[in-house]
Amino acid sequence: MVLEGVTDFKGKVLVIDDEAVIREGCKKVLSKEGWEVLLASDGEKGLEMCEEVDVVLLDLKMPGPSGMDVLEELLKRDPSLPIIVITGYATVDSAVEAMKKGAYDFIPKPFTPDQLRLVVQRAYEKRWLEKETERLRQEAERTLQDVAREKGRLMTVIECMADGVLLTDHQSRIALLNPAATRLLGIREREGIIGKPLWEVLEAKQLREAIEEALSSEMSKVISQEIKKNDLWIRAHTASVKDLQGHNMGTVTVLEDLSHLLELERMRNEFVGMVSHELRAPLSAIEQMINVVLMKEDLGEKERNFLTRAKERIKGLMDLINKLLEVSRIEAGMAIQRREPLDLKEVVQRVVDLLQGEAINKGLTLSLELPQDPLPPILGDPQGLEGVFVNLLSNAIKYTPNGGKITVSIGLEGDYLRVSVSDTGVGIPKEDLPKIFDKFYRVRTRETRQVIGTGLGLAIVKGIVEAHLGKIEVESEVGKGSTFTVYLPKRV
Ligand code: ADP
Repeated sequence: MVLEGVTDFKGKVLVIDDEAVIREGCKKVLSKEGWEVLLASDGEKGLEMCEEVDVVLLDLKMPGPSGMDVLEELLKRDPSLPIIVITGYATVDSAVEAMKKGAYDFIPKPFTPDQLRLVVQRAYEKRWLEKETERLRQEAERTLQDVAREKGRLMTVIECMADGVLLTDHQSRIALLNPAATRLLGIREREGIIGKPLWEVLEAKQLREAIEEALSSEMSKVISQEIKKNDLWIRAHTASVKDLQGHNMGTVTVLEDLSHLLELERMRNEFVGMVSHELRAPLSAIEQMINVVLMKEDLGEKERNFLTRAKERIKGLMDLINKLLEVSRIEAGMAIQRREPLDLKEVVQRVVDLLQGEAINKGLTLSLELPQDPLPPILGDPQGLEGVFVNLLSNAIKYTPNGGKITVSIGLEGDYLRVSVSDTGVGIPKEDLPKIFDKFYRVRTRETRQVIGTGLGLAIVKGIVEAHLGKIEVESEVGKGSTFTVYLPKRV
């Protein structure tokens, strides 16, 4: 049965009466209404049939166990069962007594079908409402338990997190501090800390200021900063917590422990030192020794050839080592050694002059297009920027077959100075374009297979350009050529 509205509900009614006329009469009236009616001719039978019954109509005057006893027994089994007692004429006293014992209502004999329908319907509604109330109560209890369980789980997660979590209220008082935050912030005693003002417990001035800033800011922004102290290196992200109206309720700070990076940094420095001394030094010694041997006049053609090839391989190795060192320097955030006002025209001119010979040797035309007007200076590292254009121009030479053309041009574009290096070389397939600035990425085609390289040049170029707050773009078509364009901000 689908329960749609309480008035449509029809349940099970048990009629306990020794008078067959009354029993049958009740059944006729109620069945017509849709009730399921069970009949019992005495109290004993009634008690046997009372399970899962919604309403009981009970005659008080019956042979066998008295109506009062049955009433008591029924209520003992189910205290919320609505029992309507059927009383004889002028037996109001017993009706009152039954009500006192817990009967729901009474109906005096003789009663009309309408009276019967009404009292049964009312009793059933009471039963239904009680059941519904109980269901809602249980549901609410379950919800509360769920909330409590969820809260507990969340707290456990926060307590066990490797990252530190610090919450403050809108008056910079500590609202929550997990063990990781206690350790990272060097707080010795966590006991009784909740509710204390931040300045009383927190040494890190930087962090206190960030929390104050987040609290006074109308916007929701995350303030990120790094805090270094002795062996500790922390990255802290602070944000304000707002209510639905957008008012600041407090702040939340997440603290990441980066101390292990200090160890990595030390290892990296050691590695860089090892590479430069242990590899570079012996290699240049070998190169020098080969040079000495090559100076001998009576050297056979074959030997000379071998030694010349060995020298080239050493050059390749040196190039790889230098580029690896440079990448490691860029990744350590040291892409720029120094900054000075520079005339970009001069830097580019120097690089073109340097590589002109190499281009001519390969049968290429290398030209430089300079603007008529003077260009504004940029602020940059001359050595780093020279490296950028040496890399781009060397690539243009490497990847352009004999007879090709390379054009370098400079111009001003808004707030940026633009340097383009165009070639009529082999070009780069579309699918490789997004990857060519990745470390060690090399395009493998029939045309590029013979070209020696490390796949590090463009990664270095991008690193240096970005350290100058610039950007690099590339356009290319296979078989037609490529254009690399560097944009560097002019000095303001
Ligand atoms: P590599 O040492 O291999 O030249 P780069 O990082 O300088 O390393 O370049 C990455 C790849 O991009 C190269 O292997 C090459 O396939 C492609 N590339 C770079 N410049 C050009 C160019 N001017 N023309 C065609 N392909 C190029």
